[in-house]
Amino acid sequence: MSSDLHVKVALVTGASSGIGRATALALSRAGATVAVGARRVDRLKELVESAPGEMLAVHLDVTDEQSITDAVAAVVEKFGRLDALVNNAGLMQSGMIVGADTREWVRMVETNLLGSMFAVHAALPHLISSKGAVVQVSSTAGRTASLGSGAYAATKFGITAFSESLRQEVTALGVRVIVIQPGFVATELTDHITDPVMRAAAAEIGQSMRPLAPQDVAEAVVYALSQPAHISVNEILVRPTDQV
Ligand code: NDP
Repeated sequence: MSSDLHVKVALVTGASSGIGRATALALSRAGATVAVGARRVDRLKELVESAPGEMLAVHLDVTDEQSITDAVAAVVEKFGRLDALVNNAGLMQSGMIVGADTREWVRMVETNLLGSMFAVHAALPHLISSKGAVVQVSSTAGRTASLGSGAYAATKFGITAFSESLRQEVTALGVRVIVIQPGFVATELTDHITDPVMRAAAAEIGQSMRPLAPQDVAEAVVYALSQPAHISVNEILVRPTDQV
């Protein structure tokens, strides 16, 4: 692992499973102090126990702005600074647009898009102080929308738009904005799909290829955060070789 990580303290949202968990561990191995946030605190506590470095579990619901504000404040109070926000918490509920249960759209917009915007808003003053970085976990669905992913893709395209505007606002202040766009990663993400046809399709896609492991995405995050201050890795698209 790189010893050049330019991050002393990081906050990873959605760290109770999948990409967030793997990223928290990779950052910890690389020498960062990591705060891990999610709703399932029992899982976060297990993660803290297995971490190679100092780690703090914080209850965090990104759909609740106050919860994010409190979590960021708790991290800064405990460690005195924040150098990186890994904005990873997310939810995918695939389905066709016709006849959709629009409550799933609300949930995805509130979690993936608005939640990640709230987290940036809360963390930014501290990241400006530290000349830190925001890592936005978007998706290939933030580049190309596909059939049955309309609402999910809309949230991920939204992250791309927000991130580019953010980059233009803060780059002169030394804050780097990094958008990670993973392809298919073997995680719990597809467990939340309620439409049985879409769920079966997701399982079939997973079985048709060698998917990425969460650690593969975590390594991309560590790479981007290990660059010297004058290099801003703004976008990383990382797909399984088997994914068309
Ligand atoms: P997981 O389902 O394994 O992880 C999702 C994480 O988000 C969990 O830790 C969950 O924690 C957290 N989360 C969900 N809702 C909230 C909330 N309201 N507040 C706080 N945390 C929340 O899936 P992945 O690891 O795959 O997903 C992580 C990110 O990667 C997502 O943004 C996803 O869109 C993106 N991504 C995933 C891909 C894949 O193929 N797996 C591909 C491209 C992008 P808890 O439930 O404990 O709150």
